[in-house]
Amino acid sequence: MNRIPVTVLGATGVVGQRFVRRLLNHPMFEVVCIAASDRSAGKRYRDACEWRLDGEPYGGLGDQVLVPSDPAEALSPIVFSALDNAPAREIEPAFARAGGHVFSNAASFRMDPDVPLLVPEVNPGHLALLDSQRSRRDWKGSILTNPNCTTTVLVMALAPLHEAFGVETVIMTSMQAVSGAGYPGVPSLDILGNIIPYIGGEEGKVEIETGRLLGKVEGGLAVSDPMTVSALCYRAPVIDGHTESVSVRLRGNPTPDQVREALAAWKPLPQRLGLPSAPEVPIRIHVAENRPQVRRDVEMDGGMSVHVGRIRPCNVLGIKFSLLGHNTERGAAGGSVLNAELAVAQDFVS
Ligand code: NAP
Repeated sequence: MNRIPVTVLGATGVVGQRFVRRLLNHPMFEVVCIAASDRSAGKRYRDACEWRLDGEPYGGLGDQVLVPSDPAEALSPIVFSALDNAPAREIEPAFARAGGHVFSNAASFRMDPDVPLLVPEVNPGHLALLDSQRSRRDWKGSILTNPNCTTTVLVMALAPLHEAFGVETVIMTSMQAVSGAGYPGVPSLDILGNIIPYIGGEEGKVEIETGRLLGKVEGGLAVSDPMTVSALCYRAPVIDGHTESVSVRLRGNPTPDQVREALAAWKPLPQRLGLPSAPEVPIRIHVAENRPQVRRDVEMDGGMSVHVGRIRPCNVLGIKFSLLGHNTERGAAGGSVLNAELAVAQDFVS
């Protein structure tokens, strides 16, 4: 198949660099354009930012010149956006109006009822919102978002339990990586040897996005599930990988073995379609009492699977477990690329 030309907006940032690396040699997509702010436009990629990842520096595009984040200069059929929220609010609709299909990491449009907030394993049916978005907004392109990274990891574990039993109540406490705050993020003197019990806006995002992802589409708009979610979010001295401690009340009070079986049996749509970025096993279940661990597990499957361990009874809500996922891969660039693969495979984007 001919590869679809794509643009990466915010290519100089933490998430943008992961897009560029992930799209190098991608079977469906080819990066033809990289863009960033006016501070970087006109510079070669290697001169505009420091490459902060392992592997081929600058994804082989070090000599390519960054262009302004303007559809007149940067439009491709598919546009991956690693923009901050404020510029995304103006720039992403401009690309959608010009006919681009924007796969965004920003929070700016996530809760709009005609914008898919998508994790392909969890709610592939929400792609249908693109039809109502195009008619309501009268644009040929589209905006499709992925959730906050903490929510992404959480819903990957909750979705099979919601399908098998029904989720009623969730309490989630996170220990989140510093890369979640972009670069340079939290100063080293604040985070080394420390835990910070506040991440601005994070708890509210998890509480609202979880029900939305596990909800339905009705009358062309998204309707959230009425489950109750309480999130407590902490920053921990970890580079990549969010660990989450989850307690959940499920309908019918299943046993830990029944929960383990439901997670292990889950074979969602991206895996059945064999999409290039879909991990063969979406949820890795650990039996050792001291796993999952960030340093040992988070890079497995290119950071696209999530890890569940220590599934056991909870005296308050019935079931509790430990959860781990990669915030800048599954929770950001990798999640967006998988969203685009699904949208193309399901003929919502061409
Ligand atoms: P970052 O490292 O600060 O990078 C921000 C990018 O946006 C840079 O390329 C920057 O370009 C560009 N930019 C800033 N202002 C701009 C403007 N006015 N016009 C055009 N481009 C502009 O941020 P990040 O951590 O990669 O996060 C990017 C997005 O992903 C954010 O919306 C964030 O909330 C979301 N996200 C992040 C994570 C994570 O774990 N880090 C996870 C999920 C979602 P210059 O270099 O030219 O300034």
